[in-house]
Amino acid sequence: MNRLFNFSAGPAALPTEVLEIAQSEMLDWHGKGLSIMEMSHRSAEFVSVAEGAEQDLRDLMNISDDYAVMFLQGGATSQFGMVPMNLSQGGKVSYINTGVWSKKAIKEAKRFADVSIAASTESSNFCEAPLQSDLSIDSTANYLHYTTNETIGGVQFDYIPDAGDVPLVADMSSDILSAPVDVSRFGLIYAGAQKNIGPAGLTVVIARKDLLGNPLSTAPTMYDYAVHAAEGSMHNTPPTLAWYLSGLVFQWIKRQGGLSAMAELNHRKASKLYAAIDASDFFANPVAVRNRSIMNVPFTLADSALDKAFLTESEEAGLLNLKGHRSVGGMRASIYNAVPEAAVDALIDFMADFEKRRG
Ligand code: PMP
Repeated sequence: MNRLFNFSAGPAALPTEVLEIAQSEMLDWHGKGLSIMEMSHRSAEFVSVAEGAEQDLRDLMNISDDYAVMFLQGGATSQFGMVPMNLSQGGKVSYINTGVWSKKAIKEAKRFADVSIAASTESSNFCEAPLQSDLSIDSTANYLHYTTNETIGGVQFDYIPDAGDVPLVADMSSDILSAPVDVSRFGLIYAGAQKNIGPAGLTVVIARKDLLGNPLSTAPTMYDYAVHAAEGSMHNTPPTLAWYLSGLVFQWIKRQGGLSAMAELNHRKASKLYAAIDASDFFANPVAVRNRSIMNVPFTLADSALDKAFLTESEEAGLLNLKGHRSVGGMRASIYNAVPEAAVDALIDFMADFEKRRG
C-alpha cells in the first residue's frame, strides 16, 4: 500500500483508519452477510448507522434539540437555492460577499429573494473578511448569509457575525468540524461533506427547527427542509454509503479528542505552513493575517514560470494535488482534519528544497 500526502480541496483526504474500517466491513457488514450499501435504507441496521452518525455529529458540535440535523444530497450548491426557498419568504435577505463561493450563493438567492449586500471585500481583491463594524445588516432581512471559509481564496472569518435578531446562515463547507463552534449562534449551517465530513454525495444541514416549515409555495418537496427534518432525511433514498462513511469519520474525530483537539492540531499545521511562506521571498500568500484560513492555504511562487516544475516535482515527492483553483492559479494546500501534520512537514521541507534549487 502506498498512500501519499493528499492536499486536495475536495473530495479530500480521508483518515486512513476510517478507510481501513470501511474496507474490513465492506463485504460483510457486522456479520449480516451483505455490505452496508446493499441494505435497505429503512432496515434496522442502516437506521442504526444513520442515527448513530447523527448523534455523533450532535455530540461533536454540541447541537441542541432545538436544531434538526439533516443528511441531504445535491451538494452545498443545492443549498444556495434551498436556503432562500425555505427561509426568505420571497422577501429581503442579506449576504456578505467574501469571494467565489459567496458570489455563487448570492447569484442563486437572487432568483428567489430581494438580496442586499451587508459587506463585500471585492474591492480589496477578497483578501480579507469584513469587520463586524463594516457590516450593514438590514434588520428586516429574513436572514444574513456568509461563507465562514472561502475555499478558493483561503479567507476565513475570525469571528461569528452578530446579526441581532436576523437569523444567521453559514456555508461551512470547508471548515465545519475543524474547530469548536457555537451552533446556537446560527439559524442554519450547511456543508458539503467532501472536505471534513466524508466522501462527496452528502450535504449536512443543521437548522433551527422554528425556522422551518414555511417554504415558497413553488418549492419542490425535495427542497423543503421540514419534509427532510420530519422524515429523518429519508423522504427518498439517501446516499447510504456516504452517510455510513461520514459516521465513521465522526467516530474518528471523537477518538482524536473532538473538535478542540482538531483545532489545536489544525492551528499548529497552518501556523507552520504560513510561517514557512512568510519566511521566504520566493513564496507568498496575500490574505490578511487575521483571516488566513487554517484549512486552505493558497500561495504563489515569485516566478510563475516555475509553477509547472513545482507541481511536477511535488507530485514526484509524493505531495498530491497542490495546484491552485483554475480561477486563481498558483498553488493551494488544503490541510483538512485528515491531512496529518507529517504531510505539512513534508510540504514545508519540499518548498525549502525547491526554493534552494530553483529560487
Ligand atoms: N461552498 C464552499 C465554501 C465550497 O468550498 C464548495 C465546494 N468546494 C461549495 C460551496 C460547493 O459544494 P458542492 O460541490 O458540494 O456543491
